[in-house]
Amino acid sequence: MADTASESSTCKSAKRKKYDTEFNQEWSKDYPIQRVCGNKNAFFCVPFQKTISCSHQGKLDVERHCSNSTHTKNAKVIKESRKISSMFSSPSSSTNEAVTKARIVAYEFYCTS
Ligand SMILES: [Zn+2]
Repeated sequence: MADTASESSTCKSAKRKKYDTEFNQEWSKDYPIQRVCGNKNAFFCVPFQKTISCSHQGKLDVERHCSNSTHTKNAKVIKESRKISSMFSSPSSSTNEAVTKARIVAYEFYCTS
């Protein structure tokens, strides 16, 4: 947890290539992806729990990844399990809150590791 200082210096001195595409927050509206801590040239796929580079083609990299069959299968599984849990209990705000918190914890764990 002591790498806050080194992180900011890394950002400033990071090698920059003109053609490296950075993550665009807008993409997360269309795809189940998140920003990656410390890597602007990649996105984190939530159903896949995986970091994928988008430095070459940007949104095209996202589109290509998310349209592959394995990805669709994984995303479907997540949707189905959501349906099932909502059948067992009516979605209360506390349940949703717990799910959101769990996701944040998982994401932060990923970021710091
Ligand atoms: Zn994906």
